[in-house]
Amino acid sequence: MSKVSFNKPFTQQEAIPEDGIARAVEIMRSGRLHRYNLVAGEDNEASLLEQEYATWQEVDYCIAVTSGGYAIQLALRVCGVKPGNKVLANAYTLAPVPGAIHNVGGVPVLVDIDDNYHIDLDDLDAKAASSGAKYLLLSHMRGHIADMDRVTEICASHDITLIEDCAHTMAAKWRGVRSGNFGKVAAFSTQTYKHMNSGEGGFLTTNDPEIAARAIVSSGSYMLYGRHGAVPAEEVFEKVKLISPNYSGRMDHMRAALLRAQLPHIEEKAAHWNARYDLLHRRFSQMKGASIPERKQVEAYVGSSIQFRADGLTREQIPEFIAACNARGAELKWFGDDEPKAFTSRYDSWKYIDDIPHLPNTQKVLANTLDMRIPLTFDEDDCTLIADIIEDELSHYL
Ligand SMILES: *Cc1c(COP(=O)(O)O)cnc(C)c1O
Repeated sequence: MSKVSFNKPFTQQEAIPEDGIARAVEIMRSGRLHRYNLVAGEDNEASLLEQEYATWQEVDYCIAVTSGGYAIQLALRVCGVKPGNKVLANAYTLAPVPGAIHNVGGVPVLVDIDDNYHIDLDDLDAKAASSGAKYLLLSHMRGHIADMDRVTEICASHDITLIEDCAHTMAAKWRGVRSGNFGKVAAFSTQTYKHMNSGEGGFLTTNDPEIAARAIVSSGSYMLYGRHGAVPAEEVFEKVKLISPNYSGRMDHMRAALLRAQLPHIEEKAAHWNARYDLLHRRFSQMKGASIPERKQVEAYVGSSIQFRADGLTREQIPEFIAACNARGAELKWFGDDEPKAFTSRYDSWKYIDDIPHLPNTQKVLANTLDMRIPLTFDEDDCTLIADIIEDELSHYL
């Protein structure tokens, strides 16, 4: 193959829908950006977004906040994690996950992963027993959903509260149930590189009225929680409002308006992602020197990124292979790198954690795992060209 290159940026997302832009401009003109700054009869974008998201997610309550990482730490707090409490977490995830545990004073108990990027259920069961942890923060990392039937069974058998990090599984399902609806609380991110884009932002969802009330007050509602849309009854707030500290982290009208315009398109976007993902998956599964795990039938994923293994390469060859692909515009990240780079870090680089365990399978799997974003500004021909470049560069090593 001649040295063709690809020249679209991997960090370019689609534009915000025009109705969202128009509404955001209106809000800027009004000067009323704060979610509780309303005049009579005015739409409360943040509350409407919370109602609409709760309805779409099929839960009772949704609280919109400043980021996904904030939603995770708030979720941990309202579930009762106290300083010194152990929190089980899969080791293959992104830095804001252990960061959120650390932020609430929790002690991460890292769990190994299996060959398919899921939490290792046997290690989870063993570490739940040996650590005595009462919380599991399960990150559906890069959209890979573990066997949720067994996860919930294991949690029930050890009396563990499950908190789901759905930063990569908004709109994904397990056995027809939306990701995020398996635990006590779920956290979502609307940061630019996730499934909806408000620059920064996140949601906390739950069906538990008391947890919802505590999350609303703690997200910084002052005593204006009555201006939220999907809220529990006043008596629930009466119970919790004076014992819930204000950890200020509200979403504003503008971001909410941008997200309200995107929510109606999310299923359509998921289908676009999967058309690209499935094409790339097919290519990687046929590519010499590469392999990719099959996806389970009961999992309805949203393929906004793809992970494959460069089996044909030695550890020493991986950085030069990545550099060669990157030089031709096919941007890959390496989860096995000893040094954290950009968004990607391996669990043993989180040095603030005491007693980082050795997790043999996480080490083995990440050693040759390469990661690629799939922005929707790429079409299927772009994905074919990217796969061609990667295949060509891999062929030099075979
Ligand atoms: C992005 C991300 C988060 C945090 O979301 P932010 O909105 O960036 O704070 C949490 N977990 C995972 C797995 C993520 O990818």
